[in-house]
Amino acid sequence: MSTVLDLVRADLREFTLYDAADSDAAAVRLHANELPWRPEGDAGERGLNRYPEPRPAALRRRLAKRYGVEQTQLLLTRGSDDGIDLLVRTFCAAGQDRVLICTPCFGMYAGAARLQGAAIDEAPLDAGSDFDLDADTVGEALTDGTKLIFLCSPNNPTGTVFQRAQLARICVAAEGRALVVVDEAYIEFSSLPSITDMLAEFDNLVVLRTLSKAYGLAGIRLGAVVAGKSVIGVLNRILTPYPLPSACVDIAYQATGEDALGSLKEKWATIIAERRNLSVALEGIPAVVRTWPSEANFVLAKMNDARTAAALARRHGYLVRELHGPLSDCLRITVGTADENAGLLDILRGLRA
Ligand SMILES: *Cc1c(COP(=O)(O)O)cnc(C)c1O
Repeated sequence: MSTVLDLVRADLREFTLYDAADSDAAAVRLHANELPWRPEGDAGERGLNRYPEPRPAALRRRLAKRYGVEQTQLLLTRGSDDGIDLLVRTFCAAGQDRVLICTPCFGMYAGAARLQGAAIDEAPLDAGSDFDLDADTVGEALTDGTKLIFLCSPNNPTGTVFQRAQLARICVAAEGRALVVVDEAYIEFSSLPSITDMLAEFDNLVVLRTLSKAYGLAGIRLGAVVAGKSVIGVLNRILTPYPLPSACVDIAYQATGEDALGSLKEKWATIIAERRNLSVALEGIPAVVRTWPSEANFVLAKMNDARTAAALARRHGYLVRELHGPLSDCLRITVGTADENAGLLDILRGLRA
């Protein structure tokens, strides 16, 4: 019977990157070539002279609970970017295997594939239906070499959230052939729930979560790969031994407690309300051709001249993201505070229609 582990690169099936030193911080540590004294000003729990905990247990327990999975189903990484890279390196043999992406999407999937020497196939989202996902299109684009299918929901940069039924159909189509990686970087801003509960049904499903967006912790680089325990087991053997700095783990732990959740949820509600205000206001600006409905913390707007709009915003000290390729003449605008959004809108109102 084929298992999901048969998809792992053949040369990595028995491989462990490094046998990390025992991490007991209370013991007398004469085994890791650390300096025995703390650096000046270090008052943290675990001295910064010590290597961090290899796989931080308390944070892992907390996030597993938050995401509704077992601890054995979660691996903490340096942001989702690290998780994406790890997945590509683990499952795609260079010069042989392929990655399928649903464009327009987040650029790191193709970037990580290029770095690894994996070929990239595209199954474009349907521009005629606000970039919705069609499971049949994805199924038809699967080839024998496809090892990973990346789907981003809500999608960056379109803001589209994909229906569970479509994602489930793709998992079925890819069964025994490829992993389906659903990147939920923006799911906290969406009206649909996470699909981590579908992990119980599909052993080829992988979900990516991050603290960078909704938790406001982009600066500490903390993400999670959530998957079946055999996939997590393999990734765990291949991830570097001490990926997460102790200080970052401490901050993440503090910022993700139950006590912090109330005020976070208020912030998410504020962003969702401001997203609506921003979209409505943009639609009223002559230089804006249209916007798309968004389930993330940004709005995609088609402009009559995106380059000029972005340059004008830049001159006034505002950064917006100008897009290219199929979305040329579009801007991706992050939802800021009400004042920040109003400031940008004023600038865009000054553009010629
Ligand atoms: C921002 C973003 C990420 C990056 O997350 P990090 O955890 O900061 O690496 C991942 N996926 C998508 C779609 C993003 O937009």
